[in-house]
Amino acid sequence: MVLPAYGAPLEPMELPDPAPSAEGVVVAVAAAGVCHSDLHLIDGVAPILPSFPWVLGHEIVGTVAAVGPQVQSVAVGDAVAVFGGWGCGACRLCRAGEEQLCGIERWAGIGAFGGYADYVSVPAERHLVPLGDLDPVAAVPLTDAGLTSYRAVRKSVDVLGPDSFLVSVGVGGLGQFGLTYARLLTAAATIAVDVSAAKRDTALALGAIAAVDPSQPDAVEEIRALTHGEGAAAVIDYVGSQDTLTLAGRVVGRGGHIVVVGIGGGVVPVSFGSPASEVSATSSHWGNRAELNEVVALARRENVSIATQPYDLADANRALSDLRDGRVAGRAVLLPAGAPS
Ligand SMILES: [Zn+2]
Ligand SMILES: [Zn+2]
Repeated sequence: MVLPAYGAPLEPMELPDPAPSAEGVVVAVAAAGVCHSDLHLIDGVAPILPSFPWVLGHEIVGTVAAVGPQVQSVAVGDAVAVFGGWGCGACRLCRAGEEQLCGIERWAGIGAFGGYADYVSVPAERHLVPLGDLDPVAAVPLTDAGLTSYRAVRKSVDVLGPDSFLVSVGVGGLGQFGLTYARLLTAAATIAVDVSAAKRDTALALGAIAAVDPSQPDAVEEIRALTHGEGAAAVIDYVGSQDTLTLAGRVVGRGGHIVVVGIGGGVVPVSFGSPASEVSATSSHWGNRAELNEVVALARRENVSIATQPYDLADANRALSDLRDGRVAGRAVLLPAGAPS
């Protein structure tokens, strides 16, 4: 299903099956996740590189269908998750394992054809993580929603001791994964924030000690009271709007971390002593290959999942409009016709 131009509906198109490069792997797509970022890409808010017609999709799991002659670690038939933050493999960041920071111009579905297709051409075997017996539909959100939230929680683990509080803003797909990671990776008490009553209930079911409605006029006071007046050791904002980041600045405690995950375009000013002493703020962008390995390992041992809503690949436009209109609970997942269901 290709995007013919910014803002246009996707169209079915027959393309030649990709052949692997010498170092590459062709993966038969079993499931492709539909991310909010895909809506931004379709709208042209974030650019697709380099041209149309384009194949979206950066959350991909599938089965190895063909390998290049130099490939050693995977074989035809292996079930794999695709790490999509493809980098050059040679620069300082890539050599340090932070390949997703190399630049978006090579990323699956953004700078290279992605997973809204029967096959995806993966440039190197290092981008594949063994999936084991994980169900493809349940597992595919791990490759972006579950990876991005994992990295964000990992960035704050050091300050989240048993006597500390994490404020987790937004209980959509990423936020739900984030609450699960907060419970599995930290000893902190987590306070969730969401305007939706249903999502606040979900947050409590996922282990939050409290869930606060940020549209209430006393939301900041309520959160600060829950932290015994100290403020949060970490605030992870999966929304990233100006409203939510303003709240983050008002509930973070001294020495606290603010992690901006959501692409809502807000900013959090940090200066000497403001919003509190020694507050640090960082953005968090997707995750690296090692972190995807960890996420998949965790999912094979613990219940790490969000709700999924499957669609035939041919119905991609319906999945996208459902997502745009808020009718998707958890993650919409596209299934190519040839994929085992
Ligand atoms: Zn995404
Ligand atoms: Zn690089």
